[in-house]
Amino acid sequence: MKILIAEDDTTSRLVLGATLKKMGHEVTAASNGREAWDALAREHFPVLISDWMMPDMDGLELCRRIRAAQGVQYTYSILLTALRGKGSYLEGLDAGAGDFITKPFDEDTLVARLRVAERILALHETLRTQAMYDGLTGLCNRTAITGCLQAEMDRAAREGKELSVVLLDLDYFKAVNDIHGHAAGDAVLKEAARRMQALMRGYDQVGRYGGEEFLIVAPGCGRQNSIALAERVRGCIGSRPVAIPGGTLPELDVTCSLGAAVAGAKEDALALVARADAALYRAKQGGRNRTELAQETPVTTLSQ
Ligand code: GH3
Ligand code: MG
Ligand code: MG
Ligand code: MG
Repeated sequence: MKILIAEDDTTSRLVLGATLKKMGHEVTAASNGREAWDALAREHFPVLISDWMMPDMDGLELCRRIRAAQGVQYTYSILLTALRGKGSYLEGLDAGAGDFITKPFDEDTLVARLRVAERILALHETLRTQAMYDGLTGLCNRTAITGCLQAEMDRAAREGKELSVVLLDLDYFKAVNDIHGHAAGDAVLKEAARRMQALMRGYDQVGRYGGEEFLIVAPGCGRQNSIALAERVRGCIGSRPVAIPGGTLPELDVTCSLGAAVAGAKEDALALVARADAALYRAKQGGRNRTELAQETPVTTLSQ
C-alpha cells in the first residue's frame, strides 16, 4: 500500500518508515502535519499514519482536514499516540482518525492495524463503485454523469472551450419489453451501452441517465461536432441486429432519438440537459430515429 507517515521525531520516523518498507509498503515521510497535508494535496495516499504531537500542524488537525476534504478518494488515518489513558481516543476518533497505535509500536500491532485499514479501504472502494456505476450496463449512473458534466462545464468555462451534451432515448422501448420480455429489454440496454462506449473518444463520457435514456458529455464539441457525434451514435446503435435471450432483434427494431445541446456561457448543468431534453422531445415528435439540435441559450441584455 501507499502509506504517508507524519512524525516529527527523526528516529521514530526512520524506524517506522523502515518497518513499513520491510513489510512491502511504499512509504512517503513528512516531518510535520503541514508537510503531510502538502503531500496529500499533490497525490493520493490510501493510508496515513500520523504522530499526534507535532509542531506546525499536529496529527489531530491533520485528521480533521483530511476528513473535511474527503472527496471521491479516501484516506484512512491512523494516529500514533503516547497519550495512553488520557481519554484522548475519542478526541482522535472525532477528528476523523480510524484507528490508533500507541508508541512505541510493536510490529504485530502495526500489521493488525494495517489489515483493518485494508478491509475498510476495500469496503469503501466497493461502495464507491456501487454508488457511481449502473449495475445493468456498467456505465456511470445519473449522479456520476451529472457530476462529470458539471466538472467538464467548469473546465470548459475556465479554458474558454466549447462543450456539448447529447441526450439519447431508445425508441418504442416499452414494446421490446412487452413483446419479447424484460430480459430482452435488459439485453438491448446492455448492448446499446456497449456500442456507445465503443465509439466514444477517450475524453467523452456516457452515462445511463434514466431507464432507457443515456447522456453523453462531449468536451470540445460545438454545434457541428455535436450533431456529427449524435448521428454517429444513432448509426451505431441501429447498425446490427441485437442478440436477445432465445433470438435476435432486427436492427430496425432498435433505434433511438437524440437531442444535442451546446453549453451556453454561465449555463448550469441542469439547464443544459433540459435544453437537450427539449430537442430530444422534438426528435420524438418529428418521427423518432433522428437527431435534433437544441435552441441556443437566449442572449439576455442586462440593463441597469
Ligand atoms: P418513446 O419512443 O416515446 O421513448 O417510447 P418508449 O416506449 O421507449 O418510452 P416509454 O417511456 O413509454 O417506455 C420506456 C420503457 O423502458 C418502460 C420501462 O419499462 C423500460 N425500462 C426502463 N428501465 C428498464 C430496464 O432497466 N430494463 C428493461 N428491460 N426495461 C426498462
Ligand atoms: Mg511528536
Ligand atoms: Mg424515456
Ligand atoms: Mg424511449
